[in-house]
Amino acid sequence: MNILNRKIIHVDVDAFYASVEQIDNPKLKGKPVIVGGISSRGVVSTCSYEARKYGVHSAMPIFQAKKLCPEGIYISGRHDRYDEMSKKIFALLHEITDDIEIVSIDEAYLDVTYLYHTAEYIGKYIKNKIKKETGLTVSVGISYNKFLAKLASEWDKPDGFFVIKKEDIPEILKPLPIIKIHGIGKKTVEKLNKIGIYSIEDLLLYDLDTMVNLMGTMGEEIYERIRGVDNREIKTHSERKSIGTEMTFTEDIDDFEEIIKRAEIYLHEVVELLIKKKMLAKTVMIKIKFDDFTQVSRSKSLEVYTDDEKYFGLLLNDLLHHMVLKSKVRLLGVTLSGLINNHEKQLMLFDLIGEDNGK
Ligand SMILES: [Mg+2]
Repeated sequence: MNILNRKIIHVDVDAFYASVEQIDNPKLKGKPVIVGGISSRGVVSTCSYEARKYGVHSAMPIFQAKKLCPEGIYISGRHDRYDEMSKKIFALLHEITDDIEIVSIDEAYLDVTYLYHTAEYIGKYIKNKIKKETGLTVSVGISYNKFLAKLASEWDKPDGFFVIKKEDIPEILKPLPIIKIHGIGKKTVEKLNKIGIYSIEDLLLYDLDTMVNLMGTMGEEIYERIRGVDNREIKTHSERKSIGTEMTFTEDIDDFEEIIKRAEIYLHEVVELLIKKKMLAKTVMIKIKFDDFTQVSRSKSLEVYTDDEKYFGLLLNDLLHHMVLKSKVRLLGVTLSGLINNHEKQLMLFDLIGEDNGK
Protein backbone atom coordinates (compact mmCIF):
# COMPACT_ATOMS: atom_id res chain seq x y z
CA MET A 1 0.00 0.00 0.00
CA ASN A 2 1.36 3.34 -1.09
CA ILE A 3 1.23 5.54 2.00
CA LEU A 4 -0.03 8.40 -0.14
CA ASN A 5 -3.16 6.34 -0.74
CA ARG A 6 -4.05 5.93 2.89
CA LYS A 7 -7.42 7.26 4.06
CA ILE A 8 -7.11 8.81 7.49
CA ILE A 9 -9.94 10.56 9.31
CA HIS A 10 -9.49 12.78 12.35
CA VAL A 11 -12.60 13.33 14.44
CA ASP A 12 -12.74 16.03 17.09
CA VAL A 13 -15.82 17.02 19.11
CA ASP A 14 -16.49 20.76 19.11
CA ALA A 15 -16.21 22.41 22.53
CA PHE A 16 -16.88 19.01 24.05
CA TYR A 17 -17.60 19.65 27.77
CA ALA A 18 -19.45 22.90 27.11
CA SER A 19 -21.52 21.28 24.36
CA VAL A 20 -22.52 18.41 26.65
CA GLU A 21 -23.71 20.98 29.20
CA GLN A 22 -25.73 22.76 26.52
CA ILE A 23 -27.31 19.50 25.38
CA ASP A 24 -28.25 18.43 28.89
CA ASN A 25 -29.57 21.88 29.78
CA PRO A 26 -31.17 23.57 26.75
CA LYS A 27 -31.34 26.86 28.68
CA LEU A 28 -27.57 27.10 28.13
CA LYS A 29 -27.89 26.93 24.33
CA GLY A 30 -26.51 30.00 22.60
CA LYS A 31 -24.90 31.23 25.82
CA PRO A 32 -21.26 31.59 26.81
CA VAL A 33 -20.64 28.44 28.84
CA ILE A 34 -17.28 27.94 30.50
CA VAL A 35 -16.35 24.59 32.03
CA GLY A 36 -13.37 24.50 34.34
CA GLY A 37 -12.06 24.66 37.87
CA ILE A 38 -14.43 27.09 39.59
CA SER A 39 -12.02 28.16 42.30
CA SER A 40 -10.06 31.33 41.66
CA ARG A 41 -7.05 29.14 40.91
CA GLY A 42 -8.78 26.99 38.29
CA VAL A 43 -8.33 27.05 34.53
CA VAL A 44 -10.79 26.78 31.65
CA SER A 45 -11.09 23.20 30.33
CA THR A 46 -13.50 23.98 27.53
CA CYS A 47 -15.73 26.87 26.63
CA SER A 48 -18.58 27.20 24.15
CA TYR A 49 -18.07 29.07 20.90
CA GLU A 50 -20.23 31.85 22.32
CA ALA A 51 -17.63 32.32 25.08
CA ARG A 52 -14.75 32.20 22.59
CA LYS A 53 -16.12 35.41 21.04
CA TYR A 54 -15.12 37.14 24.28
CA GLY A 55 -11.56 35.90 23.88
CA VAL A 56 -11.91 33.09 26.40
CA HIS A 57 -10.00 29.92 25.51
CA SER A 58 -9.01 26.63 27.14
CA ALA A 59 -6.12 26.62 29.63
CA MET A 60 -6.85 30.26 30.47
CA PRO A 61 -7.03 30.96 34.22
CA ILE A 62 -10.66 31.29 35.33
CA PHE A 63 -10.11 34.70 36.92
CA GLN A 64 -8.95 36.00 33.55
CA ALA A 65 -11.95 34.43 31.78
CA LYS A 66 -14.27 36.11 34.28
CA LYS A 67 -12.72 39.47 33.50
CA LEU A 68 -13.27 38.97 29.77
CA CYS A 69 -16.69 37.40 30.08
CA PRO A 70 -18.37 38.31 33.37
CA GLU A 71 -21.82 37.26 32.10
CA GLY A 72 -20.55 33.77 31.27
CA ILE A 73 -22.03 30.69 32.89
CA TYR A 74 -19.27 28.99 34.85
CA ILE A 75 -19.61 25.26 35.49
CA SER A 76 -17.18 23.04 37.39
CA GLY A 77 -17.88 20.10 35.10
CA ARG A 78 -19.32 16.61 35.42
CA HIS A 79 -16.59 14.27 34.36
CA ASP A 80 -18.63 11.10 34.72
CA ARG A 81 -21.11 12.48 32.23
CA TYR A 82 -18.34 13.49 29.80
CA ASP A 83 -16.80 10.01 30.09
CA GLU A 84 -20.16 8.48 29.34
CA MET A 85 -20.61 10.66 26.24
CA SER A 86 -17.06 9.96 25.15
CA LYS A 87 -17.61 6.20 25.39
CA LYS A 88 -20.79 6.56 23.37
CA ILE A 89 -18.93 8.45 20.63
CA PHE A 90 -16.05 5.96 20.48
CA ALA A 91 -18.54 3.08 20.43
CA LEU A 92 -20.17 4.70 17.40
CA LEU A 93 -16.76 5.05 15.73
CA HIS A 94 -15.88 1.45 16.59
CA GLU A 95 -18.98 0.40 14.74
CA ILE A 96 -17.29 1.74 11.61
CA THR A 97 -13.83 0.29 12.14
CA ASP A 98 -11.60 -0.98 14.93
CA ASP A 99 -8.65 0.71 13.30
CA ILE A 100 -9.01 3.60 15.70
CA GLU A 101 -6.50 5.54 17.72
CA ILE A 102 -8.08 7.38 20.60
CA VAL A 103 -6.04 10.49 21.26
CA SER A 104 -8.06 12.11 24.02
CA ILE A 105 -11.54 12.08 25.51
CA ASP A 106 -13.03 13.72 22.41
CA GLU A 107 -10.56 13.05 19.64
CA ALA A 108 -9.64 10.04 17.51
CA TYR A 109 -8.01 8.97 14.27
CA LEU A 110 -9.56 6.32 12.06
CA ASP A 111 -7.73 4.48 9.32
CA VAL A 112 -10.41 3.70 6.75
CA THR A 113 -8.02 2.79 3.94
CA TYR A 114 -9.42 -0.70 3.51
CA LEU A 115 -13.05 0.25 3.88
CA TYR A 116 -15.20 0.17 0.84
CA HIS A 117 -16.67 3.65 1.07
CA THR A 118 -14.72 6.82 0.33
CA ALA A 119 -13.27 8.68 3.28
CA GLU A 120 -15.57 11.60 2.43
CA TYR A 121 -18.61 9.39 2.67
CA ILE A 122 -17.46 7.91 5.98
CA GLY A 123 -16.59 11.35 7.33
CA LYS A 124 -20.06 12.70 6.61
CA TYR A 125 -21.59 9.55 8.00
CA ILE A 126 -19.67 10.02 11.24
CA LYS A 127 -20.84 13.62 11.56
CA ASN A 128 -24.48 12.72 11.01
CA LYS A 129 -24.38 9.64 13.19
CA ILE A 130 -22.82 11.40 16.18
CA LYS A 131 -25.17 14.37 15.81
CA LYS A 132 -28.19 12.07 15.68
CA GLU A 133 -27.16 9.79 18.55
CA THR A 134 -25.70 12.36 20.94
CA GLY A 135 -26.67 15.83 19.74
CA LEU A 136 -22.99 16.81 19.56
CA THR A 137 -21.32 18.32 16.52
CA VAL A 138 -17.89 17.10 15.52
CA SER A 139 -15.29 18.39 13.10
CA VAL A 140 -13.93 15.89 10.63
CA GLY A 141 -10.64 16.15 8.80
CA ILE A 142 -9.58 13.81 6.03
CA SER A 143 -6.23 13.24 4.42
CA TYR A 144 -3.60 10.62 3.72
CA ASN A 145 -1.78 10.99 7.01
CA LYS A 146 -2.39 11.91 10.64
CA PHE A 147 -0.74 15.31 10.61
CA LEU A 148 -2.78 16.49 7.64
CA ALA A 149 -6.03 14.90 8.85
CA LYS A 150 -5.74 16.77 12.14
CA LEU A 151 -4.92 19.98 10.34
CA ALA A 152 -8.02 19.43 8.20
CA SER A 153 -10.32 18.91 11.19
CA GLU A 154 -9.09 22.19 12.67
CA TRP A 155 -9.62 23.93 9.34
CA ASP A 156 -13.22 25.01 9.65
CA LYS A 157 -14.26 24.25 13.18
CA PRO A 158 -16.93 24.05 14.54
CA ASP A 159 -19.04 21.52 12.64
CA GLY A 160 -16.15 21.31 10.18
CA PHE A 161 -15.59 19.05 7.24
CA PHE A 162 -12.42 19.44 5.25
CA VAL A 163 -10.31 17.28 2.97
CA ILE A 164 -6.62 17.78 2.23
CA LYS A 165 -5.52 15.99 -0.93
CA LYS A 166 -1.97 15.33 -2.10
CA GLU A 167 -2.33 17.85 -4.91
CA ASP A 168 -3.15 20.53 -2.29
CA ILE A 169 0.37 20.19 -0.87
CA PRO A 170 2.39 22.42 -0.62
CA GLU A 171 -0.03 25.25 -1.45
CA ILE A 172 -2.20 24.60 1.58
CA LEU A 173 0.75 24.35 3.96
CA LYS A 174 2.86 27.29 2.78
CA PRO A 175 0.87 30.19 4.30
CA LEU A 176 0.34 28.48 7.68
CA PRO A 177 2.02 29.98 10.73
CA ILE A 178 4.65 27.63 12.16
CA ILE A 179 2.73 27.16 15.43
CA LYS A 180 0.33 24.96 13.40
CA ILE A 181 3.04 22.32 13.02
CA HIS A 182 2.56 19.56 15.54
CA GLY A 183 5.72 19.38 17.65
CA ILE A 184 6.61 23.05 17.50
CA GLY A 185 6.06 24.76 20.83
CA LYS A 186 5.91 28.40 21.78
CA LYS A 187 9.62 28.59 22.60
CA THR A 188 10.65 27.26 19.20
CA VAL A 189 8.23 29.66 17.54
CA GLU A 190 9.88 32.58 19.32
CA LYS A 191 13.31 31.35 18.37
CA LEU A 192 12.35 30.94 14.72
CA ASN A 193 10.53 34.29 14.60
CA LYS A 194 13.74 35.96 15.73
CA ILE A 195 15.51 34.75 12.62
CA GLY A 196 12.64 35.74 10.35
CA ILE A 197 10.76 32.44 10.07
CA TYR A 198 7.03 32.92 10.50
CA SER A 199 5.27 30.64 8.05
CA ILE A 200 5.82 27.14 6.72
CA GLU A 201 6.86 28.77 3.45
CA ASP A 202 9.77 30.46 5.27
CA LEU A 203 10.75 27.17 6.86
CA LEU A 204 10.69 25.29 3.55
CA LEU A 205 13.83 27.19 2.49
CA TYR A 206 15.96 25.38 5.06
CA ASP A 207 17.65 22.06 4.40
CA LEU A 208 17.54 19.08 6.73
CA ASP A 209 20.88 19.78 8.44
CA THR A 210 19.91 23.36 9.22
CA MET A 211 16.55 22.19 10.56
CA VAL A 212 18.28 19.76 12.92
CA ASN A 213 20.67 22.50 14.02
CA LEU A 214 17.76 24.82 14.71
CA MET A 215 15.41 22.41 16.44
CA GLY A 216 17.44 19.44 17.60
CA THR A 217 16.02 15.97 17.08
CA MET A 218 12.57 17.35 16.26
CA GLY A 219 14.08 19.05 13.22
CA GLU A 220 13.96 15.93 11.09
CA GLU A 221 10.32 15.21 11.87
CA ILE A 222 9.32 18.81 11.22
CA TYR A 223 11.30 18.82 7.97
CA GLU A 224 9.04 15.98 6.82
CA ARG A 225 5.77 17.37 8.20
CA ILE A 226 6.02 20.68 6.37
CA ARG A 227 6.40 18.70 3.15
CA GLY A 228 3.23 16.78 3.96
CA VAL A 229 5.07 13.62 5.00
CA ASP A 230 3.94 11.72 8.08
CA ASN A 231 4.32 7.95 8.07
CA ARG A 232 3.00 7.34 11.57
CA GLU A 233 0.57 4.43 11.82
CA ILE A 234 -2.77 4.51 13.59
CA LYS A 235 -2.09 2.94 16.98
CA THR A 236 -5.06 0.71 17.49
CA HIS A 237 -4.01 -0.82 20.79
CA SER A 238 -5.16 1.34 23.60
CA GLU A 239 -1.82 0.60 25.26
CA ARG A 240 -0.63 3.40 27.47
CA LYS A 241 2.52 5.23 26.51
CA SER A 242 2.90 6.76 29.92
CA ILE A 243 1.35 6.78 33.36
CA GLY A 244 1.34 10.02 35.22
CA THR A 245 -0.37 12.41 37.52
CA GLU A 246 -0.32 16.14 37.92
CA MET A 247 -2.14 18.57 40.13
CA THR A 248 -2.43 22.27 40.69
CA PHE A 249 -1.82 23.02 44.36
CA THR A 250 -4.48 24.83 46.36
CA GLU A 251 -1.72 27.24 47.34
CA ASP A 252 1.56 27.94 45.58
CA ILE A 253 4.54 26.31 47.26
CA ASP A 254 8.05 27.68 47.52
CA ASP A 255 9.40 25.31 50.18
CA PHE A 256 11.77 22.96 48.35
CA GLU A 257 11.42 20.16 50.92
CA GLU A 258 7.67 20.32 50.56
CA ILE A 259 7.93 20.02 46.79
CA ILE A 260 10.13 16.94 47.10
CA LYS A 261 7.63 15.44 49.52
CA ARG A 262 4.73 16.03 47.14
CA ALA A 263 6.70 14.70 44.20
CA GLU A 264 7.42 11.52 46.14
CA ILE A 265 3.74 11.10 46.94
CA TYR A 266 2.87 11.48 43.27
CA LEU A 267 5.59 9.03 42.32
CA HIS A 268 4.17 6.53 44.79
CA GLU A 269 0.68 6.85 43.25
CA VAL A 270 2.04 6.42 39.77
CA VAL A 271 4.16 3.38 40.66
CA GLU A 272 1.11 1.78 42.31
CA LEU A 273 -0.77 2.21 39.07
CA LEU A 274 2.18 0.85 37.11
CA ILE A 275 2.21 -2.30 39.25
CA LYS A 276 -1.56 -2.64 39.01
CA LYS A 277 -1.30 -2.48 35.22
CA LYS A 278 1.45 -5.14 35.36
CA MET A 279 3.85 -2.85 33.55
CA LEU A 280 7.45 -1.74 33.86
CA ALA A 281 8.89 1.67 33.09
CA LYS A 282 12.23 3.21 32.30
CA THR A 283 11.82 6.97 32.38
CA VAL A 284 10.70 9.46 34.99
CA MET A 285 9.48 12.86 33.94
CA ILE A 286 8.78 15.76 36.20
CA LYS A 287 6.82 18.83 35.22
CA ILE A 288 6.65 22.04 37.19
CA LYS A 289 4.49 25.04 36.46
CA PHE A 290 5.38 28.28 38.22
CA ASP A 291 3.05 30.99 39.48
CA ASP A 292 3.80 33.07 36.37
CA PHE A 293 2.49 30.12 34.28
CA THR A 294 5.85 29.29 32.76
CA GLN A 295 6.72 25.62 33.02
CA VAL A 296 9.65 23.25 32.84
CA SER A 297 9.79 19.53 32.39
CA ARG A 298 12.78 17.27 32.72
CA SER A 299 13.18 13.55 32.40
CA LYS A 300 15.74 10.90 33.14
CA SER A 301 15.91 7.24 32.23
CA LEU A 302 17.21 4.07 33.84
CA GLU A 303 19.23 1.48 31.95
CA VAL A 304 16.60 -1.15 32.69
CA TYR A 305 12.85 -1.53 32.95
CA THR A 306 11.54 -1.81 36.48
CA ASP A 307 8.59 -1.24 38.76
CA ASP A 308 10.76 -0.60 41.81
CA GLU A 309 9.85 2.73 43.36
CA LYS A 310 13.26 3.30 44.92
CA TYR A 311 15.05 3.52 41.56
CA PHE A 312 12.53 5.99 40.25
CA GLY A 313 12.85 7.87 43.54
CA LEU A 314 16.58 8.36 42.98
CA LEU A 315 15.97 9.77 39.52
CA LEU A 316 13.22 11.99 40.81
CA ASN A 317 15.44 13.47 43.51
CA ASP A 318 18.23 13.99 41.03
CA LEU A 319 15.87 15.78 38.63
CA LEU A 320 14.47 18.01 41.34
CA HIS A 321 17.87 18.97 42.68
CA HIS A 322 18.92 20.13 39.22
CA MET A 323 15.86 22.28 38.73
CA VAL A 324 15.99 25.99 39.30
CA LEU A 325 12.97 27.03 41.33
CA LYS A 326 12.82 30.61 40.12
CA SER A 327 9.47 31.32 41.74
CA LYS A 328 6.61 29.67 43.58
CA VAL A 329 5.36 26.37 42.24
CA ARG A 330 1.75 26.17 41.13
CA LEU A 331 1.54 22.73 39.56
CA LEU A 332 3.53 19.55 39.84
CA GLY A 333 3.38 16.47 37.67
CA VAL A 334 5.16 13.13 37.72
CA THR A 335 5.01 10.74 34.81
CA LEU A 336 6.55 7.35 34.05
CA SER A 337 7.14 6.46 30.43
CA GLY A 338 9.01 3.96 28.30
CA LEU A 339 6.46 1.38 29.37
CA ILE A 340 6.45 -2.31 28.60
CA ASN A 341 4.25 -5.10 29.86
CA ASN A 342 5.78 -7.14 32.64
CA HIS A 343 5.47 -10.34 30.61
CA GLU A 344 7.30 -8.71 27.70
CA LYS A 345 10.37 -8.50 29.87
CA GLN A 346 10.04 -12.17 30.71
CA LEU A 347 9.80 -12.92 27.02
CA MET A 348 12.90 -10.84 26.39
CA LEU A 349 14.80 -12.79 29.02
CA PHE A 350 13.52 -16.02 27.60
CA ASP A 351 14.80 -15.03 24.16
CA LEU A 352 18.23 -14.29 25.60
CA ILE A 353 18.41 -17.68 27.28
CA GLY A 354 17.27 -19.29 24.05
CA GLU A 355 20.07 -17.59 22.16
CA ASP A 356 22.71 -18.61 24.65
CA ASN A 357 21.64 -22.23 24.43
CA GLY A 358 21.88 -22.09 20.69
CA LYS A 359 25.49 -20.97 20.72
MG1 LIG B 1 -12.38 18.88 20.80
